[in-house]
Amino acid sequence: MRIGVDIGGTKIIAGLVDDSGTVVLKKRTPVGQKREYERIKKDIVGLINTVAKEGGVSENTIEKIGIACAGQIEKGTQKILFSPNLGWRNAPLKRDIETHFGIKTFLENDVNAATYGEWRFGLKEAKKDIIGIFIGTGIGGGIITNGMLCHGFSNVGGEVGHIILNPYGYRCNCGNHGCFEAYCGGSYIVERVRQSIKEGYRGRIWEIAGGDLNGLHTGHIEEAHMLGDDLCGRIWGEVIEYLGAGMASLVNLLNPEVVVMGGGVVYGTKYLVDDAKKVMEEKAMKASLKGLSVEKGRLGDEAAIIGAAFVE
Ligand SMILES: [Zn+2]
Repeated sequence: MRIGVDIGGTKIIAGLVDDSGTVVLKKRTPVGQKREYERIKKDIVGLINTVAKEGGVSENTIEKIGIACAGQIEKGTQKILFSPNLGWRNAPLKRDIETHFGIKTFLENDVNAATYGEWRFGLKEAKKDIIGIFIGTGIGGGIITNGMLCHGFSNVGGEVGHIILNPYGYRCNCGNHGCFEAYCGGSYIVERVRQSIKEGYRGRIWEIAGGDLNGLHTGHIEEAHMLGDDLCGRIWGEVIEYLGAGMASLVNLLNPEVVVMGGGVVYGTKYLVDDAKKVMEEKAMKASLKGLSVEKGRLGDEAAIIGAAFVE
């Protein structure tokens, strides 16, 4: 048995994972407002204890603890150099958890972990070259080439969301303009629609969202686009075009056999993946498209937990 932990921006989930990559038990706790390292570390220790106890496994039968966390992780020490969600710098989480439990502990970037999980346990058949694109509030990605997760020289490779599609484009949270994420990340898309509604736009989107700007999500925007809403037609059309362009660039660069798409925006929309795939097929080089498939992830929000539990 292994334990996988996924530290997100709003919640921490720990799961007991068996040797077949199935999460047999899962517990979660909210991150809350106070995000100091010591407090959250305590929560993680508590979750791991609960999962082990309720799953009926003693500490000495746990093979490994894997932790998935957004941000940059130092090569070798696996210290969290910077976590944008939690504001941590140089957090020695791997060392602290390993020392506390006396169990081998491994830390991995959350989207790398999710890609690894989908690669190893989600795909129908084993493949050697895949790209994972996860679209939630932002965009994260992972790259597996020749069966190896790509970490890059300083362990911060695979930042698919910040490839620049237009240097004069929308402002990105990373400080640049025109990143893939700034065009296709869920929170950026919703914010563009929300802004127009605040400025007085009323269309089908206003009804679909029930007049609730806080509850607005990309599923609403896609639906409004399908029903002929002007604003959403324009904004969603742009999302599809840029997503297809981003996918085409990645496919040309890395020549994967499978592109795995995951994250809340992918699971919360009906046609996005198929529509973007068509654009990708128009833009990518023919040679890069040969034998390529685009699939939705099969592990859902357990991908990072499962991946973290097995990646090394
Ligand atoms: Zn960026």
